[in-house]
Amino acid sequence: MLIKRLHVLSSNSSKYGLQKFISACYSSLVPPKVLEKIRNIGISAHIDSGKTTLTERILFYTGRIDEMHEVRGKDGVGAVMDSMELERQRGITIQSAATYTTWKDYNINIIDTPGHVDFTVEVERALRVLDGAVLVLCAVGGVQSQTMTVNRQMKRYSVPCLAFINKLDRMGANPYRVLNQLRSKLNHNAAFIQLPIGLEGNTKGIIDLVEQRALYFEGDHGEAIREDEIPADMRVEVEERHMELIEHLSNADEQIGELFLEEKIPTKAELYAGIRRACLERTFTPVLVGTALKNKGVQALLDAVLKYLPHPGEVKNYALIPSRQGEEEKVLMHSARDSSHTFVGLAFKLEAGRFGQLTYVRVYQGCLKKGETIYNSRTGKKVKVSRLVQMHSNNMEDVTEVYAGDICALFGIDCASGDTFTTDSKSNISMESMYVPDPVISMSIKPKDNKNLDSFSKAINRFTKEDPTYTVYWDNENKETIASGMGELHLEIYAQRMEREYGCEVVMGKPKVAFRETITTPVEFDYLHKKQSGGSGQFGRVIGVIEPLPVEENTKNVFEDETMGTNVPKQFIPAIEKGFKQMCEKGSLTGHKVSGVRFRLQDGDNHMVDSNEISFIMAACGAMKQAYENGSWVVLEPVMLVEITAPEEFQGAVMSQLTKRSGIVTGTDANEGWFSIYAEVPLNDMFGYASELRSSTQGKGEFTMEYSRYAPARGEVMESLISQFQDFYAAEPAKKKGRR
Ligand code: GDP
Repeated sequence: MLIKRLHVLSSNSSKYGLQKFISACYSSLVPPKVLEKIRNIGISAHIDSGKTTLTERILFYTGRIDEMHEVRGKDGVGAVMDSMELERQRGITIQSAATYTTWKDYNINIIDTPGHVDFTVEVERALRVLDGAVLVLCAVGGVQSQTMTVNRQMKRYSVPCLAFINKLDRMGANPYRVLNQLRSKLNHNAAFIQLPIGLEGNTKGIIDLVEQRALYFEGDHGEAIREDEIPADMRVEVEERHMELIEHLSNADEQIGELFLEEKIPTKAELYAGIRRACLERTFTPVLVGTALKNKGVQALLDAVLKYLPHPGEVKNYALIPSRQGEEEKVLMHSARDSSHTFVGLAFKLEAGRFGQLTYVRVYQGCLKKGETIYNSRTGKKVKVSRLVQMHSNNMEDVTEVYAGDICALFGIDCASGDTFTTDSKSNISMESMYVPDPVISMSIKPKDNKNLDSFSKAINRFTKEDPTYTVYWDNENKETIASGMGELHLEIYAQRMEREYGCEVVMGKPKVAFRETITTPVEFDYLHKKQSGGSGQFGRVIGVIEPLPVEENTKNVFEDETMGTNVPKQFIPAIEKGFKQMCEKGSLTGHKVSGVRFRLQDGDNHMVDSNEISFIMAACGAMKQAYENGSWVVLEPVMLVEITAPEEFQGAVMSQLTKRSGIVTGTDANEGWFSIYAEVPLNDMFGYASELRSSTQGKGEFTMEYSRYAPARGEVMESLISQFQDFYAAEPAKKKGRR
């Protein structure tokens, strides 16, 4: 009935009046209470592919906003999803915002994933809470470096996805080439489920290959959809692409495969069901086409989201509960939308905005009601949920309860992103820990003008809280503030945000790779710290072993107390751990942090009167010094996973560059004239690679890079770091003198 009324109205209503009407109708609908009618989706893309424009069109057609603005629009307002000043200026989306909307009585939560290569944590976080995604590609640019990164992340989290080839209207648009790239560069078993009717300036509409109908988007904003016959001159192409769709699907889905072998053409219903099954399994990627800017194809994309992407009940989510043996047990979350199970939610994003601190939460189990008390299972702190909202870009709507599968935001709650909330005070449940890589690069940073110190620290406070891979500390030795992160660009973007959002211009130093030092074989220690000549004395002795941790734990340090009896009184154990940790801050070889080391305290000695905390701190420091002298130590460096894709004729050149940069090739792929190389390369050898690759492949090569692990550095790297460190220390006394 509602739809009928809309139809009648659409012919004679003014453009915005209609949207208001739709909006009013939808908000008066009872929110869907069934899981099947919820979609939590992300929109991922290479920068400038039109993700923001598409999101905004979605909000417009679904009646959530009354007007559309172009990104970097002349009206100076900017698209609704771009809530930050910097984004408005640059027209890119850096931070993800969660927004919800309704389409054909389905609730769609859109998590706007950032498109920037260095913002992996934000993408990872967003992908964790999504059930499905739309991969947006530009019909001209095709598969670009960031597309490869988000593609890999979707694979890691097994997120089913649809591909949307946008910008059909642009000069040089070639969706057929983009489809080939999806297959060759990203290894997707992909096929069109829609075809464009005309391209570039001649883009008229799209063909739905399953329905075998043409769709035209009419009205001022493409809101009136007109269905028609397939244009006569496209019938052959449609027939061919329809067969291609069935062929690709038959490779991915058993039921369609059987029909194919029997040479039977699947019915529409069979095709819909087959696409859905294969899409959920990630064995097939349906490819849609359109142009967000010219308002064509967006509603059909929304329909595809409902048809093919999973609802929260179709995705298995696990939480972790510590077991008595000190291990973690995996428990499956129940997706029922009622209060039969304890509430469990994950804080996946914090935002300090104009409304105060907002915490975005994905509900994985049970129900949360306004006024209830919840516990942060990491800190044990309890908080009352005084306000519960759902976000629509910068606006919020109060709700009284949320259920499994929902995404909501809480107010004024102090927590870190990645924290788990539950209503059960005793449960230590936590959602799987998020993949948070260690920072691999640092730069010194300071405000250009000292009078901005206050805003500088405010900005740092906020950024470090929102992004766990961005850390800032004061280096007391060099008397400078150091910012660390996942790449040069990562650090630069925050520096720019400090200027734009906090009015604090900053100066950054040269990038430095975060090397580490570790021990390679166990070494025993027995150290007595004793000072008993006059005044109150000091006495502490520690005996034990310092040994390497397994390779996969080489970024951690572990302290173990294995003492029996009272030679080392229990109250001094924390002091020994403190001394050990202090020494790990700076290794003896190169001055970098020590990691991958286990300190096993086995015995020691004390003095009735002279033993105290400081004595045992000093004893632990002495033990570490013994280990530095007697043990064998090496330098560790961050190794990156690098994926390079380029046309085949450049393979030789790319290989030899990789060898020069000490890369180790771990795999190769070739597909339709393109090759991909997967390699591990030390970060220290990656500087300047982007321009080298560009010039050696006539600008056609692309690469992505992500942190993999720490591994021992080559001999010459280690030697040069050691000699730099020694030179620095040789110069140090002179410097100190100079200062005086
Ligand atoms: P994002 O960086 O992926 O969020 O991309 P934006 O939505 O900011 O779009 C980048 C630029 O592409 C903007 O100038 C948009 O106006 C433009 N754009 C977006 N969609 C289309 C489209 O379908 N056709 C054309 N020609 N331009 C588009």
